[in-house]
Amino acid sequence: MTKVLIVGAGHAGGSAAAFLRQYGFEGEIVLAGAEPVAPYQRPPLSKAWLKGEAGEEALLLRADDFYAEQSIDLRRGAVATAIDRAEKTVAFADGTTEAYDHLILALGAEARRLHGPGWDDPRVRVLRDMADAEALKTELKPDRRLVVVGAGYVGLEVAASARSLGAQVVVLERESRALSRVASDVVGNFLSAYHHRRGVEVLPFTEVRGVHVYPDGKGADVRTDGAAVHPFDVCLVGVGARPATELAEAAGLACRDGVIVDDQARTGDPAIFAIGDITRRPVPALGLTDVRLESVPSALEQAKQAAAAIVGRPAPPAEVPWFWSDQYDLKIQIAGLPVGADSRVVRGEVDPSKIGGGFAVFHLKGDRIVCVEAVNAGAEFMGGRMLIQKGQAVDAAKLADPSVPMKAVGVA
Ligand SMILES: Cc1cc2nc3c(=O)[nH]c(=O)nc-3n(C[C@H](O)[C@H](O)[C@H](O)COP(=O)(O)OP(=O)(O)OC[C@H]3O[C@@H](n4cnc5c(N)ncnc54)[C@H](O)[C@@H]3O)c2cc1C
Repeated sequence: MTKVLIVGAGHAGGSAAAFLRQYGFEGEIVLAGAEPVAPYQRPPLSKAWLKGEAGEEALLLRADDFYAEQSIDLRRGAVATAIDRAEKTVAFADGTTEAYDHLILALGAEARRLHGPGWDDPRVRVLRDMADAEALKTELKPDRRLVVVGAGYVGLEVAASARSLGAQVVVLERESRALSRVASDVVGNFLSAYHHRRGVEVLPFTEVRGVHVYPDGKGADVRTDGAAVHPFDVCLVGVGARPATELAEAAGLACRDGVIVDDQARTGDPAIFAIGDITRRPVPALGLTDVRLESVPSALEQAKQAAAAIVGRPAPPAEVPWFWSDQYDLKIQIAGLPVGADSRVVRGEVDPSKIGGGFAVFHLKGDRIVCVEAVNAGAEFMGGRMLIQKGQAVDAAKLADPSVPMKAVGVA
């Protein structure tokens, strides 16, 4: 009987196991993950769940009994330590080894930490998994002081959730603005202003130097380049994540800030696939060969690719990458990537004092949309995503005019 071993039981790994069964795979499936829980969704950890608006059961990808019902051998607390490609086995920290015919690496990424004086203080936290989130949640109470290092999506989402819980929040950002790596200045500056109106300061050009722990041990603050002092009860370091490539690298698989895979999630070893945040992947829908995406839709797409390749189904259609974020009453939805864009069109009013009908920023390459960033603008997101998928030319003047429906902005 063919055996698939999936290491990493997160969003990608858990989904790959389910897709394998959905696609009719009848062989053995072992799903081995380091965490003590069944696969769950991480997005709510900085959003609804952190605010107490969603329970634990809402986090689980599938009900606990799903795995037994589907004959998926889910192993919790199983930490993989080495891959032997010649023997086709994986070694685990408890001394066991597991053989495979197909191996799927779904080890995700680790939150980056800061190093130096004070950063190892227990009040300084990161947010990657449920245990991190539980520890953070107990600290976010009215009037507690939270310092967030990094104005990326996770940092801003935690800032918004913490503020909703009554905490005092400041966000320190090294670059010139919020979301400098992942969103346009229009969206980044809008969000900073939106946070400001709700009492959260996002401070750009603020390089952190270290954490100063007070001699009595009862307090601590973050010191910055400009000698500013930001006292905190809890500090969240949200400076991105690093793909967990150690095992793959040690096994000689090609890696470059991610395990290199093709558009069917194959590594250079025909028996080994890699999916989710651990990968560097092509995005054929945008003509890109080499991208690292950290998103649920990407993890799901690659889980489908690997499962389809293993069962011999045709490869699923290439998808346009997309991503979302929730902050306060804002839903931010992004599709595509602005790579190679040479112009942009803003549709709707960018006014942080009112959300109204929202707005969208379209990035164009020639007369084609390559990326849409939508803020409370679901129709623009859906329409933009479809136009990117179809590669259809658009009329920029119509696109800029919110009175023209999205379905009418295309040029035949
Ligand atoms: C706070 C937060 C908010 C997010 N919000 C969004 C969002 O709004 N939208 C969105 O699209 N994406 C969001 N993401 C990103 C999204 O959660 C990830 O893209 C997704 O989880 C990737 O799935 P994955 O399976 O590749 O990695 P993970 O879900 O991280 O799973 C990897 C698993 O592998 C395990 N593992 C690691 N090493 C080993 C080992 N040696 N042996 C065994 N197991 C191991 C890990 O413990 C983990 O359980 C968010 C992420 C975080 C942390």
